[in-house]
Amino acid sequence: METGISSTDGGNKDLLRNTLKADTGLYEAEDFEKKYTYDGDDLGAYRTPEATVFKVWAPTAKSVTLNLYESGDPSADDGTGTYDMSRDGSGVWSVRADKDLAGVYYTYTADFGDFANEACDPYARAVGVNGKRAMVIDLDATDPEGWEDDFNPNAGKNPTDAVIYELHIRDLSADLSSGIKNTGKFIGLTETGTVNSGGIPTGLDHIADMGITHLQLTPVYDYATVDESKPDAPQYNWGYDPLNYNVPEGSYSTDASDGAVRVREFKQMVRAVHSRGISVVMDVVYNHTYGTDYCFNMLVPGYFHRPGSNGSECGNDVASERPMVRKFIVDSLVYWAKEYHIDGFRFDLVGLIDVETIRQARAELDRIDPSIILYGEGWDMKTITVRKDVPLAVQKNVGRIGNFAMFNDTLRDAVKGSMFDEDQTGYINGNYEMKKILSDCVAGKTEWSSLPYQQINYVSCHDNRTLWDEITVMNPDMSFEDRVRKNLLAAAIVFTSQGIPFIFAGEEFLRSKENADGTLNENSYNAPDSVNSIKWDDLSKKEYADVCEYYKGLIAFRKAHPALRRMESAEDLYDFSVRTKRSVTACRIAPCAGEPSDGIFVIYNASDTEEKIKLPKGKWRICVKGNRAGCESLDEVSDSVTAERMSATVLVKSGV
Ligand code: CA
Repeated sequence: METGISSTDGGNKDLLRNTLKADTGLYEAEDFEKKYTYDGDDLGAYRTPEATVFKVWAPTAKSVTLNLYESGDPSADDGTGTYDMSRDGSGVWSVRADKDLAGVYYTYTADFGDFANEACDPYARAVGVNGKRAMVIDLDATDPEGWEDDFNPNAGKNPTDAVIYELHIRDLSADLSSGIKNTGKFIGLTETGTVNSGGIPTGLDHIADMGITHLQLTPVYDYATVDESKPDAPQYNWGYDPLNYNVPEGSYSTDASDGAVRVREFKQMVRAVHSRGISVVMDVVYNHTYGTDYCFNMLVPGYFHRPGSNGSECGNDVASERPMVRKFIVDSLVYWAKEYHIDGFRFDLVGLIDVETIRQARAELDRIDPSIILYGEGWDMKTITVRKDVPLAVQKNVGRIGNFAMFNDTLRDAVKGSMFDEDQTGYINGNYEMKKILSDCVAGKTEWSSLPYQQINYVSCHDNRTLWDEITVMNPDMSFEDRVRKNLLAAAIVFTSQGIPFIFAGEEFLRSKENADGTLNENSYNAPDSVNSIKWDDLSKKEYADVCEYYKGLIAFRKAHPALRRMESAEDLYDFSVRTKRSVTACRIAPCAGEPSDGIFVIYNASDTEEKIKLPKGKWRICVKGNRAGCESLDEVSDSVTAERMSATVLVKSGV
């Protein structure tokens, strides 16, 4: 191996020494930023048949060496050599080998004089078991058959056309009833023809049959807490503990010890999901890392995090406002979109990331495919940025980003109540004070947004109890049938509201997270498979299958009616002047461009008694009523309709 780049930088010695102190204010110095901001797109290890070039940004290191290894196992004493790297003016160290090193594992050692750190490459695109050593990879060799013809099946559509389904890789297949062979693996999502013990479709077949458009995967990048060297041990984690941002998680591959396997299998999964008309969304966690010993930080001490800032409650909020962190985040998103054909990103705690980073990410992803959907949790949390007056990507700043949506907790809490305050119940649980807020949300208006494409509407996700469990806890003495009514009403509100509907996998057949002792789990991030897995045999029970058909019907109904999927403000379409009891919310939705009907009439009746509602002139077809939903007419009425108790009734006026 020989070095190809000579050192051109004398370095500012004082600057470098100071960096090693706990006070990292140095990174905020104007001259530091000016001198050491690198804008190349070649950080990491890139190989061709002729050569391999390694580049890493470590401006405060006195020297950096490349260490090569036989295997990716961090405990194996199998080094094959170390090589000095050369520094350029922007703090990038590089070394070139005149051969193809694909499949070779490596780390960097940065020497700071007083101490030295060996770390994985922050720009690693493949790693060994447990993500401590990077691997040089020939990415083209990992492409599955037909990859060049693989594309976003929902390209060109609006974000408000999306129906998002949130899934954890293990949950899909961990229960025996899934019938899926590759338990807990990416390729479990490639299996078709899988059935439960009653012969009812499961897995990808079920998901495709629901009619959803976007599958959001709970973290699938390489995270820390599952030991990949013990694939048969009982282990589970959601994965909100990032280790290597640009590498798939090893425990979801069939062989975590070979860095190429997880890359290939992840692509196979994307290909399989795309082939069913479904786009793939990654849950990305750029707001914190697993530890402060994150590899970027080992190579540039203290740079990656906001010192002492704990908005994420993980102890290490990421300093996205620093230029090389911002670049890292944007590069990472672009990489997943290009290399893995990812069609959307869900940003965990995006309210901790600065507006400018997300704005730049949006702009760069627009250059690849403007229909890539972006959304996140814009909660306003306590974080201390390393610079003053840095606007953060919280709900109220959504308009400063561009095409971006925030999870709509306003609608969530109005429908089912606050998860943080048990006294504040929601509309479906009898709190009719919520009617005004609910009506606004239905029409696409909250305190922080009046544009439907900025709002992700949901009543359950991986966090907290499942919807079914929440309804059970709130209504402990209620019959099964009535609890189902509340569930269906909540779902109907989500799917008939302006915005982007989102459901948690299994919500469509009353998913529960029941602990071994019979209690209902509120935070299952590391609970066993028995709690988290989707119980597919429930689909064999008629009352569960009926709920699933209802969700399917709601999705089909929504897809058939552009008036429910406005991009711009929808307030002009809505008429809430219909007289009803306090417990009932009713509105007429006027047609808009592309809408096949002459109007839609929606009634949510949260009370225990039915109510007769006067209808505007004309003939109305009932499409949603009781426990049935869809595009077919269940009945035709004029003048008035009886809205069943604890349920939604949706009518469509004939187009001609
Ligand atoms: Ca891992």
